[in-house]
Amino acid sequence: MKKIYLDNAATTPLREEVITEMMLVLQNDFGNPSSTHSFGRGAKNIMETSRKSIAKLLGCAAQEIIFTSSATEATNWILKSAVKDLNIQRIITSKIEHHATLYTVLHLQNQYGIEVNYVNILPSGAIDTTHLVTLLSKDVKTLVSLMHVNNEIGTVLDIEKTGRICYQHHAIFHCDTVQSIGKTEFNLHELPVDFIVASAHKFHGPKGVGFAYVKKGMLLQPFLFGGEQEKGLRAGTEAVHQVAGMAKALDLSYEHLDTERKYIADLKNYCSTLLQFNFPEIKTNGSDTFYNILNVLLPFSEEKTAMILFNLDIKGIAVSRGSACQSGSVKPSHVLAEILAEEDLKKPSLRISFGHYNTKEDIDALIDGLKGI
Ligand code: PLP
Repeated sequence: MKKIYLDNAATTPLREEVITEMMLVLQNDFGNPSSTHSFGRGAKNIMETSRKSIAKLLGCAAQEIIFTSSATEATNWILKSAVKDLNIQRIITSKIEHHATLYTVLHLQNQYGIEVNYVNILPSGAIDTTHLVTLLSKDVKTLVSLMHVNNEIGTVLDIEKTGRICYQHHAIFHCDTVQSIGKTEFNLHELPVDFIVASAHKFHGPKGVGFAYVKKGMLLQPFLFGGEQEKGLRAGTEAVHQVAGMAKALDLSYEHLDTERKYIADLKNYCSTLLQFNFPEIKTNGSDTFYNILNVLLPFSEEKTAMILFNLDIKGIAVSRGSACQSGSVKPSHVLAEILAEEDLKKPSLRISFGHYNTKEDIDALIDGLKGI
């Protein structure tokens, strides 16, 4: 049975060149980057070359890139340190953020008594910027944390506009760009944003490695204490092969961006058209969504909700009901809960997320699979 992977927002397969790069580093550059001998210097050189390469692709300085084990770690660090060290007294976020943000914010609220405001979500799944402006009119030291591309429904935040609003109100802006790094262009020195986070496994790189962009002048304090790695901000011996793999993956993503973006957008279009044709009552969750994510409300009965992923999985087709962390649970998605009516929330919604390894045949198989349910 041919297996079909249509869950690229959860994670992505590694590119061959990334595996080759990582194997080379694992075999030849096992030195500890903190060692001063040639083995250490070789490993250190890989770390710094990777940092420079990532920074160049995103339009920032190499010193502004701090490697972490994941985007979750990067977000935890940034939000915690902003409260503890930058004297942030209020966080404005939204109820459709990833749990890496939502649960960190809740923790900070419980632990440090900071104020938390949730900006309204429009029925389209977009952030209500008028409400954001109203919230920001209160004069208190604020950090705004809003994601760029929503991982469940694919709605897109206008970073430029949101950042400008934040800066006009002297608020700090953290943006979770996990779903968009490597999939759209960034010029960080032109963008009004203070922090972004990324995760290599979302752009065909390895798991267990990511990075934070920390704008120059944002004086965060260490998350982990120990050695002097990452300028003392993130102690722990560096995962050199992971970092090299991440830099290679990002490089290839931007090298092929134009062709892959068009190819993936066409696939999404094809899928959307076939779904509409075969299930005329189908509805799309979220409007103006990113080119690789399609979230649909299927016109199936409530009883089918729990079984649908299982039935597709038996046929070798991998899609998702929400974020990967929630797909195994029958709890409704916290994102869909913000935009769907109660009765629709109980019905089956599917997140189909595409990558450049997918083909039209994969989509034909998905449609056949759904027709058989
Ligand atoms: N933010 C978003 C939008 C995500 O999709 C994910 C991954 O699912 C994360 C954060 C967490 O990233 P990581 O897997 O690196 O912890």
